[in-house]
Amino acid sequence: MSRGAMDWKGLPRESTDCILCGSGSSRLLSVQDGWPVVRCNRCGLVYLRERPSERAVEEMYGKAYYEDGDVGYQGYVKTFEKYRRIFQGIFERRNRDLRRHTEGNRLLEVGCAYGFLLDHLRDRGWNVTGVEVSPLSSAYARDILGLNVLTGTVEGVDLPLGSFDVVLLLDVLEHLHRPFDVLKRIGRLLSPGGILVVQCPWELFHWEEAAEAILKGMRPGTIRPDAVPAHLYFFNPSTLDKVLLKGGFRTVARQSGNYGEIRRRIDPPAIWTGNPLTASLRFLYFRLGLQRVLYAVARLLHLGNGLIRYAKPLRETDR
Ligand SMILES: [Zn+2]
Repeated sequence: MSRGAMDWKGLPRESTDCILCGSGSSRLLSVQDGWPVVRCNRCGLVYLRERPSERAVEEMYGKAYYEDGDVGYQGYVKTFEKYRRIFQGIFERRNRDLRRHTEGNRLLEVGCAYGFLLDHLRDRGWNVTGVEVSPLSSAYARDILGLNVLTGTVEGVDLPLGSFDVVLLLDVLEHLHRPFDVLKRIGRLLSPGGILVVQCPWELFHWEEAAEAILKGMRPGTIRPDAVPAHLYFFNPSTLDKVLLKGGFRTVARQSGNYGEIRRRIDPPAIWTGNPLTASLRFLYFRLGLQRVLYAVARLLHLGNGLIRYAKPLRETDR
């Protein structure tokens, strides 16, 4: 998710130790827009050592996040309408993936935004429920799309325990101040045999980030993730699995996606600017299909920049 043009800099800050192992020992990797990105010396988690306070972020998501700014969720609905076919292709792949991993039908999406995915899945026969902190987008999901969507956090809203075969947590985990509370709550909401699906970006120290830097004539490692400070953690495959484990889940299947498809269509990169060498590389990468080849290979090797995990509560997998 993009942060748009909201005023993140002025938000009240808090400091944090590593949420995964509790260690306060970390190495500074970079300072992004004034926010320190560090790597834990003990477990390797990359996170914001200073971050906006939870209450400040809640208030902001509650109002501005989905509407303000020129790249944020302003015009989100319009963007969806314009690229509806691309989104529906993505939603349909999600539907097929979910069918492969569950036999049940009762699905909960935590952080469902406007409910477009839920709307699609309902059409495919799922019995869908959503939870969303933004009053604005959750009202859209309810009133315009007619979905069963509750406004609030998944820990705060009233939902029947043990009643969902699938819980989706897509592009949400990296935003959460207390991810383990959310994961534990989800564990209680899942039915016996139920499955959690987590998706989050692998946005730092990923091969695509290095490629992008080279194509822009920059040094690898100098690309700024546009998600600071909305994203509090920058997971890789190993640290994501560790977070799930601490939250009471064991990963049972992995999948690799990529976030490039929509971005490329909505905001195609300029090719013929700057020095001729990097311009030619961009032509090769974006126009002659090198990027697509690399994506295809990366998906096979589980090295795409979308980390997707199917996980089950430990209490079940331990049995
Ligand atoms: Zn740690």
